[in-house]
Amino acid sequence: MVVEERQAEPTTDALATALAQFDAAADRLGLDDGIRMVLRHCKRELAVHFPVRMDNGTIGEFSGYRVQHNLARGPAKGGLRYHPAVSLDEVRALAMWMTWKSAVVNIPYGGAKGGVIVNPKQLSDRELENLTRRYATEISIIIGPNEDIPAPDMGTDARVMAWIMDTISMHRGYTEAGVVTGKPVSVGGTLGRAEATGRGLLYIVQEATRHIGLALEGATVAVQGFGNVGAVAAQLLRKAGAMVVAVSDSSGAIYNGRGLDIDALMHHSRDHSPLAGATGCDQITNSELLALPVDFLIPAALEGQIHAGNADEVRARYVVEGANGPTTPEADAILAEKGATLIPDIVANAGGVIVSYFEWVQDLQFYFWEEDEVNERLHRVITRAFRDVLTMAEQHSVTLREAAMMLGLSRVVEATRVRGFYP
Ligand code: NAD
Repeated sequence: MVVEERQAEPTTDALATALAQFDAAADRLGLDDGIRMVLRHCKRELAVHFPVRMDNGTIGEFSGYRVQHNLARGPAKGGLRYHPAVSLDEVRALAMWMTWKSAVVNIPYGGAKGGVIVNPKQLSDRELENLTRRYATEISIIIGPNEDIPAPDMGTDARVMAWIMDTISMHRGYTEAGVVTGKPVSVGGTLGRAEATGRGLLYIVQEATRHIGLALEGATVAVQGFGNVGAVAAQLLRKAGAMVVAVSDSSGAIYNGRGLDIDALMHHSRDHSPLAGATGCDQITNSELLALPVDFLIPAALEGQIHAGNADEVRARYVVEGANGPTTPEADAILAEKGATLIPDIVANAGGVIVSYFEWVQDLQFYFWEEDEVNERLHRVITRAFRDVLTMAEQHSVTLREAAMMLGLSRVVEATRVRGFYP
């Protein structure tokens, strides 16, 4: 069979990373060229350019994307990012990772992602709302509870989700709560969603420590990125007895060898956004944070943070990927060579999409659960997925990244084959 390459080669590192990970898993699974070509490309890509009326009376022009990578296992699911470095290739990579992530944790979703090229911190509340409502309108042709369900990612939050839900509901003439997840609880959000990704990381670290017989009590942790994912993970790990010695945000990093007071830092960073002004700790650089000799290093900021140029300096025993795509394939190889264990994004940070799935289920049933039930189900789903990945890694003598990719990919391939190729 002749299979043509239909898409330009990747121009961002994130897409190159996602495709390299895919190719390695496809090789291991012995996939044929036809199915590889289907899964190497995103099924649907919408680029939108739209005006926003700014507070000073001028018109701003913005660009955004919504990309659906694969729908074989269910509606598309994935976050929405507001960041100045958003690009179509980055959104493609993030959408692809969502497909594998939903499959690894075995929830009935395909993968999608959205992004708008903007620094949300430079907009007023009104400008942010105008931008969000106009972007939601532009992508309304492909989102919906049965089609594609956005959620928060970098630069977006529950408030942004409420605006999207309201905009789509205004267009349709009735409340469409299930069109987004990560909403405020007052409008159909679920208890436990705001903390879900950080809580999932806690459950993964607890399971990893059990697996290797290390006590979490007193284990040292460094977290890069002090946002929705990183700050909650740090807080919950601290509460579980770990010693969080360093955290960072885009303004810099802080370190205290006796452990940081995470609750106080969360309070501080809410009031004065950068961590840089925090007291009772040493200021270090983000590069120094990545090189600390800790038990667990949790990158929870952007893609490509651990790469060929700095992987050799990483001294953590475990790298637990809170962010999507924080480690390049070259760095994966260097870490494996050094004997560091990497727990990959598509299982480690899946707490967010798992609890988003619970939110969607509750919205569709108009029946809401207690927070304990949400957390307990999250624990069950993410722990089972992690054990499945460990078993796969042992059976095939591969890294946890390769095992997770093989598990996710094989489930998507199975669904694709069973459904067949229309027409
Ligand atoms: P966020 O916007 O809430 O926080 C991001 C944090 O990273 C901020 O503290 C920011 O200052 C910091 N940061 C940015 N650039 C940095 C740099 N160069 N060095 C150090 N810190 C830097 O975003 P988030 O929702 O916490 O998402 C973080 C990562 O986790 C992203 O990769 C995202 O895709 C991934 N993720 C998020 C969720 C979720 O539920 N929000 C779920 C799964 C994965």
